Amino acid sequence: MWNDYFDLIVNYIYSSKKIIAIEINQSKEIVKVNQGVKTLISEESTINKPLSRYFKIKENSIGQSSRSNLPEVELEYVFDKKLRLFFTGYFLEGPKNTLYIFENNANKETNIIEKIGEVNLELSNLARDIHKKNKALKSKNNIITSLMFQDPLTKLHNRRYLYEKFEKLSSMLRMNSIDNITMAITDIDNFKTINDTYGHDIGDEVLVVFANLIKSISRENDLKVRFGGDEFILILVNGNLEITKKRMEQLKHEFENVKIKGVHRPLTTSIGIAEYKKYEDFQNLLIRADKLLYKAKELGRNTIVTESSEK
Ligand code: GH3
Ligand code: MG
Repeated sequence: MWNDYFDLIVNYIYSSKKIIAIEINQSKEIVKVNQGVKTLISEESTINKPLSRYFKIKENSIGQSSRSNLPEVELEYVFDKKLRLFFTGYFLEGPKNTLYIFENNANKETNIIEKIGEVNLELSNLARDIHKKNKALKSKNNIITSLMFQDPLTKLHNRRYLYEKFEKLSSMLRMNSIDNITMAITDIDNFKTINDTYGHDIGDEVLVVFANLIKSISRENDLKVRFGGDEFILILVNGNLEITKKRMEQLKHEFENVKIKGVHRPLTTSIGIAEYKKYEDFQNLLIRADKLLYKAKELGRNTIVTESSEK
């Protein structure tokens, strides 16, 4: 009867993958191993190899087990440096050989690894959330930035944008990445009387129509700005006075032909055109263009004055 149990226990130990059983001879070479060892060390056959190749017996670990009166020992698995595995078990000294029987002691570590995994997952979910929120924030920021630089009525750029952009353009000019800049400044003639005669809403409508004409006569790269009130600025990069003048003539002409319901008087605009001089201050260009615009007003309005035609 006992023999039956004994065989069952021996069979269990030798076929188990959870238990590690190693029989060594007096030279501490492995004589026999169970399935657990074969699973753990699948790279090579352990037979006739020294036990120390695979396991280090922890110093001072040999003591008396509280559960049995067998001597207890702790082993560290040293064959694979990436794995830190510890085993606790017993050894039985036979007449010739010694049998070590161990259990994997790594349960605590496994728990920690599982916990780290969970925390990792939470962190990556959190990171994904932050990424999403950042994206939303960025697009909101973009909207705010574009509103900061846009005139709400006409949807053209505003004065703030012009000043920012001009800084960039001046440095591009200094680095010779662009050749020249021309500025046209235009102001609707007698706009106050439009407001006074037809009301502020019609005045607004005229401003929007005028801004849309500016959009339609200009290119994508041109700067189109509502500078304030009924005053607008168009900046052409790599154009010249002649091209700018042609665009402005088109604007002036189309504005004259605009039909707005209820408005029974011609709509006209005066325009001054100047060219940027290298190293000149932006403000200086603005003053020169504005002087030309003033001149156009003096000449009776509905007129374009360019730098060259003035000379
Ligand atoms: P000039 O030919 O000399 O330019 O005469 P003007 O009457 O057009 O005079 P000015 O350019 O100085 O007048 C601009 C007017 O534009 C003054 C202001 O009441 C009006 N204005 C400014 N902003 C707006 C706006 O957003 N909507 C409307 N309807 N009127 C505006
Ligand atoms: Mg005006």
